[in-house]
Amino acid sequence: MSPIVLGIWLFAVGACVGSFLNVCIYRLPAGLSIVWPPSHCTKCLKPIAWYDNLPILSYFLLRGRCRRCGATYSVQYALVELMTGLLAVGFYVAYFVFQVRGTDSARWSVYLVHMALVAALIVSSLIDLKYKEIYTVVTNVGMVLGLAAGALFPALHGGANPVAAGGSVLPNWFGGGWLDGLIRAAAGLVVGGGMIWLTALGGRLAFRREAMGFGDVLLMGLIGSVLGPEAAVLTYFLAPFFGLIYGVWNLALHKDHELPYGPFLSMAAVIVMLTQSRLMNHFWPGLQSIWLSLSGGGL
Ligand SMILES: [Zn+2]
Repeated sequence: MSPIVLGIWLFAVGACVGSFLNVCIYRLPAGLSIVWPPSHCTKCLKPIAWYDNLPILSYFLLRGRCRRCGATYSVQYALVELMTGLLAVGFYVAYFVFQVRGTDSARWSVYLVHMALVAALIVSSLIDLKYKEIYTVVTNVGMVLGLAAGALFPALHGGANPVAAGGSVLPNWFGGGWLDGLIRAAAGLVVGGGMIWLTALGGRLAFRREAMGFGDVLLMGLIGSVLGPEAAVLTYFLAPFFGLIYGVWNLALHKDHELPYGPFLSMAAVIVMLTQSRLMNHFWPGLQSIWLSLSGGGL
């Protein structure tokens, strides 16, 4: 398949997945089923025909309105579809052109697992933006799947045949097999969730205010379980930069002090995924040698 055709195809698949994510964002917090009933107008409750339900296109063709009753739809639907499509192409370029070593099947497994994480992050972030709450079913199911993915594809976390350059800060205690993969996924979960938990605890003691909720702990646990402890640390330190930019802007415009942290953790995680091996190459050799000297170098 030519790269252009593959790119268009990935964009289309991504946009369709984005369409499903919209359903999740709308229905999960409302306690509705995400598979039944099929798409319908939330105003007139009439089913939406497939030709009026094309990702991105239908929104513009119908000018953001229901064909039957004229109710207006949020542009958010089209934006989520566009974003998911662009991320599907962007991750392909980042993983298959610029980085991620190993065989094509190893690259595809990393790509698909990471895109599943991206999907969970989009749903969590949009729900967080709307309700200022992390929907914990997504994070909890995601963490279980993250641990399973770690065991199934040890290469995800730099097992015996790491797909990312730079490998892992943790040694292969069990030959780089499924057990090492599971350990790294669990370490990522504990390190990621633990850092946010400690930050929330510190914030509560220092400012007597709830800065971050337990939902953020779970979301970061999910990110760590899929990406491993190294990426969890990078994500943790990158997220405040996004939060700061938005926080200042939000404070200036709305005098709103409460800011959801999920979207910033998510944005940071996406940046870390896209640049992981480069970041690893820069930071981890140094940290790895500190780790080796601390642990006596006997690894
Ligand atoms: Zn309608």
